[in-house]
Amino acid sequence: MKIAENKKILAESIESAKESSPIAAREIMLLAASKGQPASAIEEAIAAGIGYFGENRVQEAQDKWPELQKKHPQVKLHLIGPLQTNKVKQALALFDVIQTLDREALAEEVVRLRDSGFGIRGKHFYIQVNTGEEPQKAGVLPEKADGFINFCRKLELPVVGLMCVPPADQPPAPHFALLREIALRNGLEKLSMGMSNDFEAALRMGSTCVRIGTALFGHRD
Ligand SMILES: *Cc1c(COP(=O)(O)O)cnc(C)c1O
Repeated sequence: MKIAENKKILAESIESAKESSPIAAREIMLLAASKGQPASAIEEAIAAGIGYFGENRVQEAQDKWPELQKKHPQVKLHLIGPLQTNKVKQALALFDVIQTLDREALAEEVVRLRDSGFGIRGKHFYIQVNTGEEPQKAGVLPEKADGFINFCRKLELPVVGLMCVPPADQPPAPHFALLREIALRNGLEKLSMGMSNDFEAALRMGSTCVRIGTALFGHRD
């Protein structure tokens, strides 16, 4: 049970990093990033007590998760990869939380489905911010974030927080700090930031959700 062992080590690191977090008292979500992992590895993670999973691609999740969800109805599934407008309906049917809302067309499509009777009760959204302003990366630009958050609020979408994936070739801390600043000034509580290599830094900057793949499952093929 390598995954159980990894989870125990991670839980300990999260506990100690939490002590230097500005929101030390709050619950930290360990979100298992299970892209590229077979159902057997996910089953092993569930058996080890993990209750939150993140997938990057709607199609891959569609292939893997309906059966797992039937067996483990308590497990919550988050979308942490980019979402195409024509996949919103499929995504809403499958995921409990969409962490990658990042443009008006996407928010409008969610609202169109909701207003046509497609139930989104209990679903939550995070807005992804492209803190590094990388052209190839998803996420709203930092200077557009306040406007987009307000846009979603006017549509009465349940936006609970922000998410970011800092540039791979830069120190992540300034990106985490920027995300936190945007969240604070907009009154958003949840911060999805930190992966295997930088989750401790993210927790020190106030992360409430760390998305961990490699450090939990081992290296992906
Ligand atoms: C793959 C992935 C992760 C996890 O990355 P690791 O470095 O393997 O922990 C987290 N967030 C997103 C958006 C990812 O695509």
